[in-house]
Amino acid sequence: MSDQPILELKNIHSGYGSIKALRDVSLKVYPGEVVAIIGANGAGKSTTLMTICGIVSPEKGEVYYQGEPITKINPENLPPMGLCQVPEGRRIFPRLTVEENLILGAFYRDDQEGILKDIKHVYELFPVLGERSKQHGGTLSGGEQQMLAIGRALMTKPKVLLLDEPSLGLAPIIIHQIFDIIADINKNDGTTILLVEQNANLALKAATRGYVLETGEITLEDKADALLHNPEIRKAYLGE
Ligand code: ATP
Repeated sequence: MSDQPILELKNIHSGYGSIKALRDVSLKVYPGEVVAIIGANGAGKSTTLMTICGIVSPEKGEVYYQGEPITKINPENLPPMGLCQVPEGRRIFPRLTVEENLILGAFYRDDQEGILKDIKHVYELFPVLGERSKQHGGTLSGGEQQMLAIGRALMTKPKVLLLDEPSLGLAPIIIHQIFDIIADINKNDGTTILLVEQNANLALKAATRGYVLETGEITLEDKADALLHNPEIRKAYLGE
């Protein structure tokens, strides 16, 4: 593991007017890691990702990517830099085909050959998307839309992928398929992953390290395996 984080939040305070969603949040993600942020409904998980991406402006604190400050950056500038978010609720383009959605993911690229190669790579990872390449995004099942959202993010050639609740609303069998592919993307493509999940069991099994977020504050940080075996975590987040 490199000793320089690829992504770092330092003392972030963030929120929505009078609602203080994040208080003094600091976290680090190192190259090649899968880091999970777990927490209950409303703990501030999505706000953390949106603050990283410049969608929500922090009141205080800094976000660093590859050692450079990116706090309050225009979100559009991030995918070309290798930082890409798959938002909660997927947000694919329903009236465009699967393939058009993927091509839009490569909006800033002009290497046609590379784009075609990467579409092929997405179809290898998610064969169902290849089978449905001419189908409108809006006609896909929830799981297929989640796959398309991840596939579209991969078209930006991310160094760091931010995933917001990839399991949300999906059947267990589809969730397992998607998490297997997330592991593949990390191992085979070397993509660093920051994952936000209410499903703590799933997230910690997929992660190398984890942070626990409780009402806007990081209350615990440890290796994912240690968190999985921590009695407090098992009681609070794993239903024991
Ligand atoms: P969930 O798992 O339910 O998505 P979360 O951990 O991602 O929750 P956030 O969505 O980050 O939590 O919300 C953190 C806090 O900020 C909550 O109290 C929420 O009500 C509030 N909040 C989120 N978005 C807004 C908004 N656009 N305007 C006002 N308050 C908001």
